Amino acid sequence: MKIANVDIFVLKTSLDHPFAFSQGWVHQRSATLVRISTDNGLVGWGEAFAQGLEPPEIAAAAIEHAFKPLVMGCNPLDTGVLWHKMYAHSRDFGRKGTIVSAISAIDIALWDIAGQFYSQPIYQLLGGAQRTRIKPYATGFYRVKGKHEASRLAKEALDHRKAGFCAMKVKLGFGIDDDMEVMSAINSALDDPSIELMVDTNHAYGRSEALTLGRALEAYNIRWYEEPVVPEDIASYQALRAQLNIPIAGGENEHTHYGFNQLFQLQALDIAQPDVGSCGGITAMQYITAMAHANGVQVNPHVWGAAIAQAASLQVIAALPVTHHSLFPTQPILEYDQSFHPFRQQLIDSAWAINDGFVDIPDSPGLGISVNMDVITEFCTE
Ligand code: CA
Repeated sequence: MKIANVDIFVLKTSLDHPFAFSQGWVHQRSATLVRISTDNGLVGWGEAFAQGLEPPEIAAAAIEHAFKPLVMGCNPLDTGVLWHKMYAHSRDFGRKGTIVSAISAIDIALWDIAGQFYSQPIYQLLGGAQRTRIKPYATGFYRVKGKHEASRLAKEALDHRKAGFCAMKVKLGFGIDDDMEVMSAINSALDDPSIELMVDTNHAYGRSEALTLGRALEAYNIRWYEEPVVPEDIASYQALRAQLNIPIAGGENEHTHYGFNQLFQLQALDIAQPDVGSCGGITAMQYITAMAHANGVQVNPHVWGAAIAQAASLQVIAALPVTHHSLFPTQPILEYDQSFHPFRQQLIDSAWAINDGFVDIPDSPGLGISVNMDVITEFCTE
């Protein structure tokens, strides 16, 4: 079996209602998708991470010019061989950021092909399912004005609960006073200690403000405090871990086992959050997970993007062992972004429904999805 073609699709659409996280206003939705076809008729899909401010054309150019020529004609079952080939080839201009996201997209597509070739879901190829369903958490609470939206965000929390969510992550980083106003309003509105809350500032603050916010948040039962400072500032991650009683999470802006190695060696994280669309794909996720376990760090993947990245995340999380085993261990939870994304659920034929507070993990071969080409045609820009 040989790779016969690599097609790249850049999807974009502008939002009627832009929204903000701490780093800026999101005006459009975008995705970089890759479709790998084999000479015997198999087709695998992959997706590169594209956060709200990231132009999807960068990953597309990296795939087209740097990686497609490397994998054409190769055996798609050589997931590890091709990962190292792509990483080594791009080391001098890559190692982080969108170049690794481009590798991730190809890697995911190769695993999709492998699953179909062996007629197994990807999690089976990763060692089997540690779980067949996963509790989702609602990521939301974006701003539409910028500040002073506490009462609207409290109502949003009630909407998430009504939709079946038992956990939610609140976007903070809009000034500590505003952040705490929001937390207080949400907590009062929910008035239910069984609802788990997480917070995420998207590295809005420096160490001192992050510590002040963290101390104020200790009044609430927070499952984790995500990206309190910029990813480069590992010393502040260490300091916050030492000084706060809330678990510190991060890693969505880190890449490969080489990048995570530093975070683990320096004991900077309680919870590592690699994103399958940017950490180096399913292959790198395995390496990162093994290293996290060896360093006593929990892994709870970051999940973003359109339906293909979500599907790949579900497969990875199915196979993810818990770090700290017990009769009642802390299980990973599924990030389920609730912001408007027209080519997320419409892109595949089956949506991720919440049943009884859980999302079932697809058990058909590969990623277990069927991609709707009409949606790609509608939103594809090149
Ligand atoms: Ca985040």
